[in-house]
Parts: sequence; structure tokens; C-alpha cells
Amino acid sequence: MGQCLPAWPLLLLPVLFLASKMPRVDSDLKLDFKDVLFRPKRSSLKSRSEVDLQRTFTFRNSKQTYTGIPIIAANMDTTGTFEMAQVLSKHTLFTTIHKHYSVEDWKNFAANHPECLEHVAASSGSGNADLEKLCAILEAVPALKYICLDVANGYSEYFVEFVKTVRGKFPKHTIMAGNVVTGEMVEELILSGADIIKVGIGPGSVCTTRIKTGVGYPQLSAVIECADSAHGLKGHIISDGGCSCPGDVAKAFGAGADFVMMGGMLAGHDQCSGEVIEKNGKMYKLFYGMSSDTAMKKYVGGVAEYRASEGRTVEVPYRGDVENTIRDVLGGLRSTCTYVGAAKLKELSRRTTFIRVTQQSNQMFT
Ligand code: 5GP
Repeated sequence: MGQCLPAWPLLLLPVLFLASKMPRVDSDLKLDFKDVLFRPKRSSLKSRSEVDLQRTFTFRNSKQTYTGIPIIAANMDTTGTFEMAQVLSKHTLFTTIHKHYSVEDWKNFAANHPECLEHVAASSGSGNADLEKLCAILEAVPALKYICLDVANGYSEYFVEFVKTVRGKFPKHTIMAGNVVTGEMVEELILSGADIIKVGIGPGSVCTTRIKTGVGYPQLSAVIECADSAHGLKGHIISDGGCSCPGDVAKAFGAGADFVMMGGMLAGHDQCSGEVIEKNGKMYKLFYGMSSDTAMKKYVGGVAEYRASEGRTVEVPYRGDVENTIRDVLGGLRSTCTYVGAAKLKELSRRTTFIRVTQQSNQMFT
């Protein structure tokens, strides 16, 4: 009887063994902002002025409530400045303040601009010195309610432990943490105590991670997938990076982002740090990634030998007061809402159908 068993399944064994060692290719299509447009829908809205961009959220772990227009200035040292926060907070926009201000700077800011504290976060990396400074800032400014824990690679176990530690120390603060791009890591960080997960690896305007490491995830798909995971746990997400025009901001919200973070779109303004540079009669301001040579030379004395810089330095045309840019972004977003029939920003993702496209806009005169 045993002799009658067919021998061919045995032949498959080496194939299975080899297959398990092969790299996997996920061939599901993943999309970026540039790959889609909104499909317009019938709407009863008369004017874009009727659109309400304010959102109210209650956060899963801190149990705190937020109200505002959920657009955030990135915690880069050029854009995440106190000057930026003063203008953005007037419009109820948010600023993640960069981590290089001293405790004294924070004390002065809090004393002179207490009205801004509702719409700012203190940023921190995951080192011991970072944590010490964060604790000192939160002690010096008790009205500060938000913490932004920012590392380039949110996938390390060490970072997960760090989020747990910070949650343990600050049970009532709302914690933003990242960056990640996949649902399982969004869930892990939320379950470890974070409230809002920063989503984006490699889409940034001055980011070279994809070139230096080959790692990344198209931002629109990352947002769609991560929003689904976060919302399943009553958590929230920030779409961080990759917005190059107001339409991209709208697409990030349409994809399910609760907040959208911008660096490059806010660069080059009066409220950014750095001097205006004049070259051949034109005015510029310097903008650079927080892992660029420029930032590392400024703060840690250079690029450490074991790592490559993963950020670019660029001269962006000087753009004056950031007020004009804010108006442009908010105007665009209101208009998107009217095209798809969303009376409130809250309704935008429910009213969104994206169509895949091969071209964003007519390039004839650009
Ligand atoms: P942007 O709005 O300019 O497209 O993207 C801003 C985001 O880029 C920031 O919020 C941050 O997540 C990311 N970023 C900033 N500096 C660097 C850097 O030096 N390297 C990388 N990989 N990402 C950066």
C-alpha cells in the first residue's frame, strides 16, 4: 500500500524551500497624489464660503478634545518656528515646534503668546537628552498639551518602548508619533499610547531617503491604508510630506487623513528661520531636510561616519508673508469640498471618489 503513494509531492519540497527564501513582491498598485484626481459630484452648496474646515476630535489615549483646521506646519527648524505658530494659530492651524528651541525660548513664547499654546506641539526625538528636554519644556509650560515624537524610522522596537515611556510620564498629553507607512505599525504605536500617527516615509520635498535607501511607500496609498487601521482603533493620522500644491492637501484629506503636515509648501516665508539671500537680483531662503548635511552640521557638528545624509538643501524663492499661502491652501480646500458636495471637511473623505489619471494638468505654459 505504502509503495503505491506517489512520489511527486516530495519533488516540491526543494521548490517550497527555495520559494520561502525569495524576496516577496507585493504587486498591488500603490498610488501617489499625482496619480489621481477627485471625481466631481452633484452638490447643493452655493459657494465655497459655506464650507466648514474646522474639525473636532477626541483622542483615543489622552481623552483630550481638539478643534481647529487640521493643517500642520512640519517640525523642521525652518518651518516649525514660534513665528509660524503665531500666524497659523490665528487661523486655528497647528504648528509642531522644532526640537532645537531651548526651555528658556519656550518660557518666553508661552508668556508672550499664551493664545498660541492651543495649537502647538513640542517635538522630541527618542534619545535620552531629547526626553530630558521634553520633560523640562512640559514642566515649564504646563498649558502645552501636545507632544510630537518624531524619528525617521518609526519601525524600531526601541521607538515603541519610547512611546510607552512618554505615555507613562504624560498620561493626559496628546501624543503624535511616527513616521510609519503601514497599518500594522500604526496599530502598534496607537496601542503603545500614541494618539495621532505620522504617516510618510520618503515623500518629503527635501527628503532623499528613497534615493539613499530604496525604502518608501507611495503617499496616497499609505494614507488610505493607515487611516483605515487607525480609525478602526479610534486613533488618528497625519499625512506627513509630499504635498506640493493645495490640491495635494485636499487629496490627503480625501484619502482619509485627519491632519495634513506641510514643510516645503510653507518654506521661504517671513515666518521661516534663516536670512533672505539675494542672488542675481532674486531673493531666496534656505530650506533643508532635518537629516541633511546642513541640519547635521548646524546641530550635531556634521554627518556621523556611519550614516548618510537623507535630506537635501535647496534655495526656495522668497515668498513674503505666510498669510497669502494659508489663504491659497484654505481656498483650494474649500473649493475641493464644493466640487464633491462636502459642506464640511469632515465629509470630504466620504464624498471622495478618486479617478486614476496619467496627467495632472496641462503643461503647455509651465
Ligand atoms: P514636505 O511637506 O516638504 O514634502 O515634507 C515635509 C516632511 O518631510 C517633514 O514633516 C518630515 O517628515 C520629512 N523630512 C524633513 N526633513 C527630512 C530629511 O532630512 N529626510 C527625510 N527623509 N525626511 C525629511
